[in-house]
Amino acid sequence: MSLLAHVIIGVSMVSCSGEKSGSESHDDEHAVHWGYEADDGPDIWGSMNSDWALCANGLEQSPIDLANAVKTRLPVVDLDRPGEGKFEVLTQASVVDALDNGHTIQVNSKTGEKLTVDGKAYALLQFHFHAPSEHTVDGRHLPMEMHFVHQADDGALAVVGVLVEEGAPNPGVAPLWAQLAEAPGTETMVELRAEFAEPVFPDVGSGFYHYVGSLTTPPCSENVQWYVRKTFTTLSKDQIAEFTAVYNHNNRPVQALGDRALYLDENPTVTIH
Ligand SMILES: [Zn+2]
Repeated sequence: MSLLAHVIIGVSMVSCSGEKSGSESHDDEHAVHWGYEADDGPDIWGSMNSDWALCANGLEQSPIDLANAVKTRLPVVDLDRPGEGKFEVLTQASVVDALDNGHTIQVNSKTGEKLTVDGKAYALLQFHFHAPSEHTVDGRHLPMEMHFVHQADDGALAVVGVLVEEGAPNPGVAPLWAQLAEAPGTETMVELRAEFAEPVFPDVGSGFYHYVGSLTTPPCSENVQWYVRKTFTTLSKDQIAEFTAVYNHNNRPVQALGDRALYLDENPTVTIH
């Protein structure tokens, strides 16, 4: 929205060859390469590594179709957003880490942004992109989706999802997308307009969905608190095309809701400071 402060991001490109990378901190499990193709994709993640069994057997997985939500009032969401900070951009292809991983541009936050829900604080670790969207709305994919991954001190995760439709350009994307053309391994410092990071909870006028799910990538860990904004954000047709020219199907198919409830708060109480 109106956060005009500029923040510095460090851009580091990570090898996409499937070889071990410096970003991989747990070497053994990360020796397994996963992706989105038939021979390494979502249908077989659960059998590729014993630590990823939840990808096949989990009963509370993500993403899901956002439909038939139960309208409710959710706890107050409190956002602590320092005016500026540092973001580090990783352009990843096959790197796996404990939180989220490859096949996207990932922006690591060092800024101390926090999301507090029901008294529990989660710090923003990173955000990244999927194309097309992972969550669907009444069965429909949007062109892209952003995930803002937050973690509490006890390791619990909360992810804010923002669906992207085609529309006005987001000028904040330019320095990120510029890295799409860079060779793997390059490191660059660029300026990122903080307004791009603002969708952590921008304009919440139409509310957000909430459910308990999982990481959408191996190891598909569960008990992730999901908050998906009902209002879409926009990127221009060209911006979407530039991203999808590089990453065009890094989305896991929707998973069964099962016994879970999907909530929708259309008028949430969000405080920002
Ligand atoms: Zn994601």
